[in-house]
Amino acid sequence: MEYRSTRGPLFATDTQAIVQGIAADGGLFVAPELGRSPFDWRGVLALPPLAMQARLLAHLLPGVPDMEALVQKAYAGKFDTPALTPLVKVGEDYVLELFHGPTAAFKDVALSMLPHLLTASRAALGLTGDSVILTATSGDTGKAALEGFHDVAGTRIFVFYPDGGVSPIQRAQMVTQAGANVTVCAVRGNFDDCQSGVKRAFAALSDSEELRARGLSLTSANSINIGRLAPQLVYYFIAYARLVDRGVITVGDRVDYVVPTGNFGDILAGYMARALGLPVGRLVCASNANRVLTDFFATGVYDRRREFYRTDSPSMDILISSNLERLLYYVSDGDDALVRTCMEQLSREGSYRFPDALMALLRRDFSAYCCTDAQGAETIGSLWREQGYLCDTHTAVALRAARDYRRDGIEGKALVVLSTASPYKFPGAVLRAVGGESTGSEFDEMDALARLSGVAVPASLSSLRGKKALHTDVIDIGDMLPYILANINGR
Ligand SMILES: *Cc1c(COP(=O)(O)O)cnc(C)c1O
Repeated sequence: MEYRSTRGPLFATDTQAIVQGIAADGGLFVAPELGRSPFDWRGVLALPPLAMQARLLAHLLPGVPDMEALVQKAYAGKFDTPALTPLVKVGEDYVLELFHGPTAAFKDVALSMLPHLLTASRAALGLTGDSVILTATSGDTGKAALEGFHDVAGTRIFVFYPDGGVSPIQRAQMVTQAGANVTVCAVRGNFDDCQSGVKRAFAALSDSEELRARGLSLTSANSINIGRLAPQLVYYFIAYARLVDRGVITVGDRVDYVVPTGNFGDILAGYMARALGLPVGRLVCASNANRVLTDFFATGVYDRRREFYRTDSPSMDILISSNLERLLYYVSDGDDALVRTCMEQLSREGSYRFPDALMALLRRDFSAYCCTDAQGAETIGSLWREQGYLCDTHTAVALRAARDYRRDGIEGKALVVLSTASPYKFPGAVLRAVGGESTGSEFDEMDALARLSGVAVPASLSSLRGKKALHTDVIDIGDMLPYILANINGR
């Protein structure tokens, strides 16, 4: 499948798009043909999860050879259930648990796969020399990327996270990461600053003689990389197939999905799944107090000039939602000039207005809701008391949106809520929400939560206790580029 930039006539094959991460004009790679070439989506529903993944990826990234073998290598033995992403009935809705991988967040589904896609793409292109992976994280991408890339030959990975802007458990997961090819660094700023810094480093280094002379090339582990986005379609299919198995729907019925959203990657994967034929009904975009997307869907104006809130759902504390750019491209039928203008306005003036006619098209497919930390906590508490189901702070935002959406009138035959993290990644906030007393360290809170709920703590989280921090650097936003150059040869 051919890929091109959202911002102009730059083309790439699938393997080139994975290796580059982001287009040289600053745009994101999209597949104009998505949904136009025949795809047997019904056939996919009959397959077990890993075979589903291989079939989907072979369609989206046909230039990557041996997809079935890559998928086996990526996932075998890494998730704690062969269902990969189990579907749990909670009240009248269904929660799709995406957090059964090695770092207890949904990013594992894609980041278990990305290193294999990258290595295979480089081999297919005959590239030698190392890939330098630049990653900005709001908390979960960082650890999932480190888990995927540490000690992978031919790669060096940098992870930048907002100082004080991730949960203590998320921080502990990252700063204790061993591996000779790993650099983790805190940045005095928020996630948007980290992401902009990474994009600036890309622009500055994309035709750097210095890197070329050392045989290095840059890529990204963020969902701006198509190799990170493509593996996320699978769980929309998995959820749909389980609903069919259980007789809740028959093939062809529409299913609505509620997605706790930050950078808009997860929900965009649902949009792409629909383009491939899956009967996805409405996509409900759930935001925390950083409600830039809720306002965008309501008004047609995207405006990042607003207060930034640090919330209990830190992985969604984002004001510049990168993958929305891909949606603008698809919904405008590939109007790259329009997308470029909007993105330039966003970076220059901090806002843009998307045309009314196109907003009307978007509103046919998307709803958007937001909630405060207090409303999220209330949702965690009532769900625990009434259904005996324990969810994390990000999932709570989505469950709250699901409630609001049901009140306004659900369109699909069933409603699936994507659950993006284990409650134990944010034990303090979850413990308080279910009426427990939070005292001591986050590890004590984890134990208290486990006693109260009877749900076991994932071993990958409890084992962090007492591990030594290996990465303690904290830098200013403006120092990211020199920091990358200084550390590019390892430490
Ligand atoms: C990354 C993340 C999100 C947001 O996903 P996007 O693809 O950035 O919209 C939601 N919840 C958790 C726990 C996350 O780690």
